Amino acid sequence: MALHKDEAIVLFKRAYGESDKIIRLFTLTSGKVAAIAKGGNKSQKRFMNTLEPFNHIKVEYFEKHGKGMVRLENADIVETNSGIETSLHRVCTASFFTEFVDRLTKERERHDSLFHTLKEILTKVKDAEFTFDDILYYQLKMLEILGYMPNFSACVYCGKEVVEDKKIYFSKERGGILCHKCYRYLPHKEYPKGVIPGLAAIKNMFNGSGFGSTLRNQGSEKFSVQEKTEGYRAFDKEMREIMEEFISFHLDVELKSYRVLKNIVF
Ligand SMILES: [Zn+2]
Repeated sequence: MALHKDEAIVLFKRAYGESDKIIRLFTLTSGKVAAIAKGGNKSQKRFMNTLEPFNHIKVEYFEKHGKGMVRLENADIVETNSGIETSLHRVCTASFFTEFVDRLTKERERHDSLFHTLKEILTKVKDAEFTFDDILYYQLKMLEILGYMPNFSACVYCGKEVVEDKKIYFSKERGGILCHKCYRYLPHKEYPKGVIPGLAAIKNMFNGSGFGSTLRNQGSEKFSVQEKTEGYRAFDKEMREIMEEFISFHLDVELKSYRVLKNIVF
């Protein structure tokens, strides 16, 4: 059995037997890993408060043969989740994104940028309650990292660029917009002008002078993408619908935490 050292974000924890715990970690170098933390005698102390969800920790674990569940040997705090528990809104936001990562990644698949994005979210959510746009922004960002980004710029059937005010047909089945010719032949939904450009505007903040870089520079200040997307405020419901339908069609997951989050934030 080899000893592995890594850092990880705790996605999930539950009690197992009288003193053991089963946890799911999102590790930096090995992706999602299921682990058992043996309780009893001195290890009880060692793991005290370390294995709480949303914590960023350093871990040492033994890999058994066959890459099943690993045995956690040591865990130390890098950054605690402290601050997230101050409101239900924050807890729900953090739960939603950890569940998103948990459900949409496979065991042992390394995803550096997803790890850093989740870490960024958990750090931010300690300082501020996310707005609707903030949540959408990170949802899109995670989809992009995982290779599931919907196409908001060109027709997914013929490939032609579509001008802003003609972006009204979205095909969840095809994963993007349709032009004014192709929509006739393919399943789609029609949305008011501005809905799809609104989503595209949030997505476009990933790069350059957008929201993403502002976030990194501002440290703990309150943040929001609201300013940039003011013109699209009326379309929250429709934007949400596009994302919900797209995710449930392509990824076939229903996130428990999403339902709760929706009631609180949206
Ligand atoms: Zn087309």
